[in-house]
Amino acid sequence: MNYQRILENIGQQVQREFGKGKVADYIPALARVPPKKFGITVATVEGDEFRFGDSEEPFSIQSISKVFALSLALKLEGAKLWTRVGREPSGNPYNSLVQLEKERGIPRNPFINAGALVTTDTVVSYDQNAGRTMLEYVRHLSQNPAVQYDEEVAMSEKEYGHLNFAMSYFLKSHGNLRCNVEDVLDVYFHQCALAMSCTDTARAFLHLANRGTSPISGEKLVPARRAKRINAVMLTCGLYDAVGNFAYRVGIPAKSGVGGGIVGVIPGVLSICVWSPELDAIGNSRVGAKVLELFTTKTKLSVF
Ligand code: GLU
Repeated sequence: MNYQRILENIGQQVQREFGKGKVADYIPALARVPPKKFGITVATVEGDEFRFGDSEEPFSIQSISKVFALSLALKLEGAKLWTRVGREPSGNPYNSLVQLEKERGIPRNPFINAGALVTTDTVVSYDQNAGRTMLEYVRHLSQNPAVQYDEEVAMSEKEYGHLNFAMSYFLKSHGNLRCNVEDVLDVYFHQCALAMSCTDTARAFLHLANRGTSPISGEKLVPARRAKRINAVMLTCGLYDAVGNFAYRVGIPAKSGVGGGIVGVIPGVLSICVWSPELDAIGNSRVGAKVLELFTTKTKLSVF
């Protein structure tokens, strides 16, 4: 398939969509990102890559990092992890405290903030150097040793992270946080602040399109069973509380972040990452979702 032509075509088609969303502004470092930035990378299981626009420019991956934390936590803890965090869509904002209270400190899924705090806590509980381990893991997955934490973003996450502090203490009071709150949050704020390009991100997710094995190196990065499960949780919980509409419009497992990135996986075929910082009211990239909708429509590729 001529993905390059398709990307260029989509790039033109979405031009009129710019200017309708709003860049995340809960921290100054994100509020400053130029709204018209726009990149796409497709990585196929055959090893080909197709890029468009600002595909090589690192952006703040934010909640996309929750997939890396889940993958590491499952590796360390196995299925026991699911006693501490659920795997159902939340139907609530990603930072809701109300639901966590009602459900007695068991977060609905690993892709809302409370759930990611539990997966990150799991990693920290096994590893004193969890921040370093996370960074090395992501560098390995993306085959880019230059991937970095953006320290400025990490510091502002901490400075403005009152709700995440509240959520962590709440989890702690329910016995669902093993480690020290500050230690868990330090790793959590850093993982949100990972700076990666569309190409880094598409590469880092490519193994999930290939039953857990890197099609490039042949290395088994996660067992096939776990890849299936991570994809399933992305499909049902990856787009905040817009996940039903996204499945309806796009039809693939995906994970978004408030930095404006959305990464999607088409099992057996490819991974795709789009970056466009203008968000819709729920916190997903407006243009990003449109690009993915057009992509699965034009290529007739979706999981359905
Ligand atoms: N750093 C954000 C927070 O913890 C993550 C937001 C996101 O991308 O969902 O609030």
